[in-house]
Amino acid sequence: MKIFLDGRFVDKADAKISVFDHGLLYGDGVFEGIRVYNGRIFRLEQHLDRLFASATAIMLSVPMTHAELVEVCCECCRRNKIANGYIRLVVTRGTGYLGLSPFKCSKPSVFCIADTIELYPDEVYRNGLRLITAATRRVNPAAISPSVKSLNYLNNIMAKIEAIQAGTVEALMLNDQGYVAECTGDNIFIVRGGKLETPPVSAGALNGITRGVVFELAERLNIACREVNLTRYDVMTADECFLTGTAAEIVAVASLDGRAIGSGKPGPITRRLEAEFHKLTRTEGTPIVR
Ligand code: PMP
Repeated sequence: MKIFLDGRFVDKADAKISVFDHGLLYGDGVFEGIRVYNGRIFRLEQHLDRLFASATAIMLSVPMTHAELVEVCCECCRRNKIANGYIRLVVTRGTGYLGLSPFKCSKPSVFCIADTIELYPDEVYRNGLRLITAATRRVNPAAISPSVKSLNYLNNIMAKIEAIQAGTVEALMLNDQGYVAECTGDNIFIVRGGKLETPPVSAGALNGITRGVVFELAERLNIACREVNLTRYDVMTADECFLTGTAAEIVAVASLDGRAIGSGKPGPITRRLEAEFHKLTRTEGTPIVR
């Protein structure tokens, strides 16, 4: 496997970052998880826009241009013969001293990995996911904006531990006011009376790319969709519920904390959106070979 690291492609065994990199010492950096389907990178421009916005928000200057990063992602797929898989693009603050100050770090590091992807088990896509509500609350947006896709995932990891210890794979995270924010690595939607509802970004959700695709699909399919504060009660009593994420795509939720949602099976609107989403991923994207 060849990894892009700071301007060149190196073997996996040589793809190493300093123990003084603030990405490691403090989670100081930003990243994107991107999918490649049939030799085309899905929504690459949007992922890069979000990466640059995250970097701006944490005062990190990405040492490469948008166009250069497009090329890096494509080349990484080509070199590793990944036509269907997952790209992880990371910008760390770079090597510094033990103090917190990012201004003493020499130069941000950029690396890119193209690999195969591990999806949720088939059974989850067939029957829906069992969600639990995590006791761990989402970080207050006033502390660090959830729109910043940073390397600091401890908040999500604490909730993921709860999910796994409860025998499932995802957990619902509430914000400090008790409203639904998102899951540990996915956004959440419910269907109520034939309409879609999802928490606003201000409730503590990442501005998910897949979430945005669902907005577009809903518009095209004439399904009303609004961003609104949701409670656990709203999720438990919804007609349908599904999660969205680059890795998960669209995955139905069967239950929350043991309460079946709707029929307890993936619902018709979820299935329709899933089908339309797959159509898009089959046809759209930046070709890795040009
Ligand atoms: N929320 C969190 C916390 C995530 O890490 C992700 C996955 N990157 C998502 C939501 C889904 O976002 P996207 O559709 O852009 O992958």
